[in-house]
Amino acid sequence: MGRFDTERKEMIEELKNKGITDANVLDALAKVERHLFVDPMFVNKAYEDSALPIASEQTISQPYTVAFMTQALQLKKDMKVLEIGTGSGYQATILATMGCRVFTIERHLSLLNNARKMFDKLNLRVAAKGGDGTIGWKEHAPYDGIIVTAGSPTIPEPLMHQLAEGGRIVIPIGTKEFQSLAIGIKIKDKLEVKEVEGFKFVPLIGKNAWS
Ligand code: SAH
Repeated sequence: MGRFDTERKEMIEELKNKGITDANVLDALAKVERHLFVDPMFVNKAYEDSALPIASEQTISQPYTVAFMTQALQLKKDMKVLEIGTGSGYQATILATMGCRVFTIERHLSLLNNARKMFDKLNLRVAAKGGDGTIGWKEHAPYDGIIVTAGSPTIPEPLMHQLAEGGRIVIPIGTKEFQSLAIGIKIKDKLEVKEVEGFKFVPLIGKNAWS
């Protein structure tokens, strides 16, 4: 058994108790070693259900948030997913572990480079680039799923355009202090959105979000 296997199993039980039901999502969270993605200083807290600081004043999202957002996308193997806000690379690793083709964008190049090293080390199908994710990544569009892991005032227009028909987007929307999670599905070129309260994110900074 590896280090932290017991803790990771307990985390999965906690996520089930909190209402996560998608078996593919739970399997991926059970496999991926979150302790590899957190600051060594916080390694003993890696399997608590809380967000933790990473470099560049950013955070690795809470496991429940990762599970909830991933479940909301209703992904299947081989689907194409765009993530905005690579951060530690943990969320992208979960998506790749589920068999998705992952494209991810990060504005902090030092975070991007660390995440890329992890993707290489773990041999994952993830394409990562630096830059402003609020303009999306047109070359690989359309996406079956788009996940934005930072909070925005509105849904950036280019992301709506780059979503496939029937595709889903999950994005925190609100003020810099308070957001709710918008879950949208694109039907006949229009987005049907529902909102879920109770999440907290760092700000999405870019052309189509906060300045
Ligand atoms: N998904 C990450 C969580 C990272 S926190 C993980 O699993 O660890 C959100 C990230 O979004 C931060 O790293 C921040 O730098 C990044 N970010 C904020 N605005 C961005 C933008 N416009 N484009 C790309 N990344 C952005």
